[in-house]
Amino acid sequence: MTNYPHLLKPLDLRHVTLKNRVLMGSMHTGLEERGDWDRVAEYYAERARGGVGLMVTGGIAPNEEGGVFPGAAGLYTPEDIANHRKVTDRVHEAGGRIAMQILHAGRYAYGPNCVSASPVKSPISPFPPKELDEEGIEKQIADFATTAARAREAGYDGVEVMGSEGYFINQFLVTHVNKRTDRWGGSYENRMRLPIEIMKRVRAAVGEDFIIIYRLSMIDLVPDGSTFDEVVQLAREIEKAGASIINTGIGWHEARIPTIATSVPRAAFAWVTKKLMGKVSIPVITSNRINTPEVAESVLAEGCADMVSMARPFLADPDFVKKAEEGRAAEIAPCIGCNQACLDHTFSGKISSCLVNPKACFETEIVVEPAATKKKVAVVGAGPAGLSVAMTAAERGHVVKLFDKAGEIGGQLNMAKVIPGKEEFHGLVDWFGTMIAKTGVELRLNTEATAEMLEGFDEVVVATGVTPRDPQIPGQERENVLSYIDVLRGGAEVGQRVAVIGAGGIGFDVSEYLVHAGESPTEDLELWKEEWGVGDPEETRGGLAKGGPHPHAPARQVTLMQRKAKALGKGLGKTTGWIHRAALKMKGVEMVGGVNYEKIDETGLHVSFGEARETPKVIECDNVVLCAGQVSERGLADTLEAKGVKAHVIGGAELAAELDAKRAIDQGVRLGAAL
Ligand code: NAP
Ligand code: SF4
Repeated sequence: MTNYPHLLKPLDLRHVTLKNRVLMGSMHTGLEERGDWDRVAEYYAERARGGVGLMVTGGIAPNEEGGVFPGAAGLYTPEDIANHRKVTDRVHEAGGRIAMQILHAGRYAYGPNCVSASPVKSPISPFPPKELDEEGIEKQIADFATTAARAREAGYDGVEVMGSEGYFINQFLVTHVNKRTDRWGGSYENRMRLPIEIMKRVRAAVGEDFIIIYRLSMIDLVPDGSTFDEVVQLAREIEKAGASIINTGIGWHEARIPTIATSVPRAAFAWVTKKLMGKVSIPVITSNRINTPEVAESVLAEGCADMVSMARPFLADPDFVKKAEEGRAAEIAPCIGCNQACLDHTFSGKISSCLVNPKACFETEIVVEPAATKKKVAVVGAGPAGLSVAMTAAERGHVVKLFDKAGEIGGQLNMAKVIPGKEEFHGLVDWFGTMIAKTGVELRLNTEATAEMLEGFDEVVVATGVTPRDPQIPGQERENVLSYIDVLRGGAEVGQRVAVIGAGGIGFDVSEYLVHAGESPTEDLELWKEEWGVGDPEETRGGLAKGGPHPHAPARQVTLMQRKAKALGKGLGKTTGWIHRAALKMKGVEMVGGVNYEKIDETGLHVSFGEARETPKVIECDNVVLCAGQVSERGLADTLEAKGVKAHVIGGAELAAELDAKRAIDQGVRLGAAL
């Protein structure tokens, strides 16, 4: 008897039966554009072997003008079809099924040739789109149909027509982009014409025995977005036009409400999909922030959908379904919703991967195989770098001892997990705990490893992490001055008015921690919706709450500072930085750049501005919290070096600048695979 009866139940699509209700949602990997098709094939084959019911590829453009950026992958030539054939063959050999997403970016295309319903520039692209004429619209529809036919020729089991997230098709549906007065604009019947025509022509091009998923924007989260009546009307028409499945899209890319970040509650939008259940007779898929089999199962058991889409969780763990089936859910590497190695990479033109699983998209480069010679390995430091190297080395058959002077594993991750909105880090630390136990790592907590204790090992890895940087501000020894560790780990009492020194990732996190009291909105969906202004699309267009965001009063008055004269938070994640900045602004955090820290006394923090140290000012506060960055903890590494002991130094102990869990885990796994 499985724990996930709804999730693992087959889904009958008439001409084909999917083995379970799990869809691997579309994720752009960046591999297709690099032309290494063996690597693309291995990425998907690995996930097919993991037992997922159906996969959707990253977006493939129907034509040049619809590509997300110039040169975006398309399916244009016999050579392209042959390349895609490598992928579908490998997936089918592995027992999987795969659909190709057709993505036309419209005005979101990052190039001068972009096209849309009307020449309305998007706030997230510098390029105004050209308005399509009748002939131009016909070309776009024809290109969708041709691309679908080529996908079939390339061996795909289906296509997904991307109709949400504010891309091309979505742009025709809403009046804030579609200003047309011809048969493609004006009334909703006219604005719906494009998706319906595309669906009819795609169905005609591929025949009946081919899956067509239509991804439909069920809550636009932008002004003048669709009403839910319009969503239902469109869904029924899309079904009539030939779709096999309707997938859920949540929010346009230009929406100012987070939809997938870690601070979004789990399954936060399943209630939106549930509204469509019973309104169409084809299966409906839900998505967004579903990252464990338990959450996926409960969403299905509650009748929110017929199937669940998870995209990033399959970067984190290709064996998600297999492990759930085998009762090994605790071994599933959790997607923590950070975007750091997936979407942040995509938007920086880098290959996507995963913070938790650096092997994602690097399957052919990082290969973890049984070691030829079994070695005795000592790892010092049970933070993300040390845990990663220890479990990878142990998995290969090495005998690994892991030391940490603390009483628990996790290192800096334990600070992240207490921040409201970062609760997912609990799951990450728990997963590391499960994996080191499973791989047989011998764990020595409360043990400060000395050079003597490390004698007799074949390999020594130093992953001792970092210590806070000393900012040397006169008065910093006073009792009203705390370090971020005192606040996040030590449970220090913090007064009502706080000055935070340093606006890096930790300064932002500490500020977030200090302005919240009571339940984290991430753990309380209604509270979260209220804070960000998410309303019911049945009551308000686009699902934007009538009164806008309604944040609860901050628990403290916080001033966040940095010495650089730039805007604060510029160095935070590309796709999540705006959320951290917006969240603190909602809580009235004052952000001040370009300061010099003069001294701290009983009244608070004395600062001045600019090189000439002008306009002195006192930031009156009860406490000053130091978040001035970190330096490598190299004590043990230096001692070993002095004794001539060769050691591998990784993570923060090697380089504190830009230290983060992504680099630490990547280094740990790569070293573990090479020892
Ligand atoms: P950080 O990002 O390097 O930021 C350090 C901050 O301290 C900067 O604002 C810096 O700004 C300031 N600073 C540097 N030297 C100073 C000095 N001598 N006196 C006073 N201020 C000084 O370091 P962090 O905030 O400790 O974060 C460490 C790492 O953890 C980050 O790199 C990040 O990758 C990771 N992290 C990430 C997140 C996330 O949200 N993704 C969250 C937490 C941690 P000025 O030099 O302008 O004053
Ligand atoms: Fe999930 Fe972060 Fe990995 Fe992306 S990088 S898949 S958000 S854990």
